[in-house]
Amino acid sequence: MLSRRLALASTCLFLACQGSQKAEEPEPPKLDSEVSAALERLNEEFRREVYEVTDRVYQAVGFGIANSIMVEGDDCVFIVDVMGSVETATEVKAEFDKITQKPIEALIYTHNHADHVMGGLGFVPDGKIDVYAQETTNYHINRFANVLRPALRTRSARMFGSQLRGSGPDQMENVGLGPFVETLDPDMTLGLIRPNKTFWDELSTEICGVKVELVHAPGETNDQLFVWLPERGVLLPGDNIYKAFPNLYSIRGTLYRDVLTWAYSIDKMRALRPMHLVPSHTRAISGQDEVYETLTAYRDAIQFVHDQTIRGINRGLTPDELVEVVKLPPHLAAHPYLQEYYGKVEWSVRGIFSGYLGWFDGDAARMEPLDPERRSAGMASLAGGTEGLLAAAREALAAGQYEWAAELATHSIRMDSQSTEAKQIKADALRALGRGQINANARNYYLTQALELEGKVEIRDETKPGNALSFVSTVPIGRFVAAMPANLIYEKAADKEILVGIRFPDVGEGYGIHIRRGVAEFIGSFPEDPDLSITADSTDWREIVLGLQSPAKAFATGKVRYTGSTLDLLGFLRLFQRAID
Ligand SMILES: [Zn+2]
Repeated sequence: MLSRRLALASTCLFLACQGSQKAEEPEPPKLDSEVSAALERLNEEFRREVYEVTDRVYQAVGFGIANSIMVEGDDCVFIVDVMGSVETATEVKAEFDKITQKPIEALIYTHNHADHVMGGLGFVPDGKIDVYAQETTNYHINRFANVLRPALRTRSARMFGSQLRGSGPDQMENVGLGPFVETLDPDMTLGLIRPNKTFWDELSTEICGVKVELVHAPGETNDQLFVWLPERGVLLPGDNIYKAFPNLYSIRGTLYRDVLTWAYSIDKMRALRPMHLVPSHTRAISGQDEVYETLTAYRDAIQFVHDQTIRGINRGLTPDELVEVVKLPPHLAAHPYLQEYYGKVEWSVRGIFSGYLGWFDGDAARMEPLDPERRSAGMASLAGGTEGLLAAAREALAAGQYEWAAELATHSIRMDSQSTEAKQIKADALRALGRGQINANARNYYLTQALELEGKVEIRDETKPGNALSFVSTVPIGRFVAAMPANLIYEKAADKEILVGIRFPDVGEGYGIHIRRGVAEFIGSFPEDPDLSITADSTDWREIVLGLQSPAKAFATGKVRYTGSTLDLLGFLRLFQRAID
């Protein structure tokens, strides 16, 4: 592509061009047929089945995006990762039950992500069971409260292709690590059981007569652990390895993933010399040498991308330049576990840059960049006017310069938001980029946004109120109140000054929120002499703040009491954006 070639030329000024960068011409786009063949092969990976990896260790693949693993002991079993919904967990449990009727003694969560923890009640309907996890898993689960916020919801829906229903070439093929993401399906139920057996660094125990070692291994998440069964030579690495290039940065938007620590966590696994590797996505690997070789290639790829990105940063390269030079060496690029079905080297490089240096690329011209409207107007003026800009976008599309066409069309849309042609050019360009992708996240994101531009898809919050509440009710009420300030509507609160105390007698806790002209300060205890004093049941309060219960009704029925005026109370609540509207 044109833009790529320009970037490549400038990069060579800074860094000796690497061998793989000699090609003057851009790589030809992959044929759609090659892509669909690759996707078909990948779908075969996700064929739904439960199989025995080795002596009494069973892996359930293809029931949802993640796997669930059953380890059978003398008189009972334990389950590692519990799927993302009660429905998928129930399906897996029915399959496990066909293998053995032994009761479930414990659950283990490899990390906090919804696809690994939200199905607990499908395995253990009364929720009464030992649940092992790293100490901070609970804290990270609470952070899901923020996932209710629209940005992450929209980006996740695009990345996981939850709107790409129906058939045809643009349907959602898979999500790179599994067939689909159940936590985004509004018909599925969340059934979280909280961890109650936690540890910081390591925990050695025995469950159902099986020796179990849990080891904190930060990587894909900070709370990640791996499970080592020394007597059976079996290692369960969670999400620190799966059959795809690791998602060192996720385009749905996540905290910075400390990639070097991720590589070191894999080193801890290599040192154990496992006979079997049973990941929480994609199938197991057996054979001591094969496992070792795969773990080594995986950690090498992570370290390579990290080190070469740092090296480029120290030579003054910007993210746009770095992505042109940091490419995996051929032996890693060809490795079956490093194909870019899920993560991408390019995104990883950008993620590492911003993890170390933040958003500023170092060029003063980009320190306080032009606002989007003026930049688009400038582009139009260069192109000889709005029509010229549109014509350039059209030409770029016809020439197969899809990134450039999408960029020019974006400027055109900004100049004329009603232009259906500009939107169609951008949609066509994104669709072409999506169809040429084996990366599920990129493919789904491109194809979804194309449909959004055509007005064929609108991403809405499809969360069922009951589902939202079933999760939110497990978030401690203090944590819930502490999340309110980020939802303050500044425009409404700009001239407000009010101190509010909220008491929750059912849990014996009290908190405060001090609104000070556009800022809401959370106070970790009930404040002295508040202007408005509220007493509520913690569940009612969650429902009211989420918009699931009418505040006026709750006050009228006496469920929520207060001192101060009703107007103050309703006025206070109206200052906050509700999570579910
Ligand atoms: Zn996962």
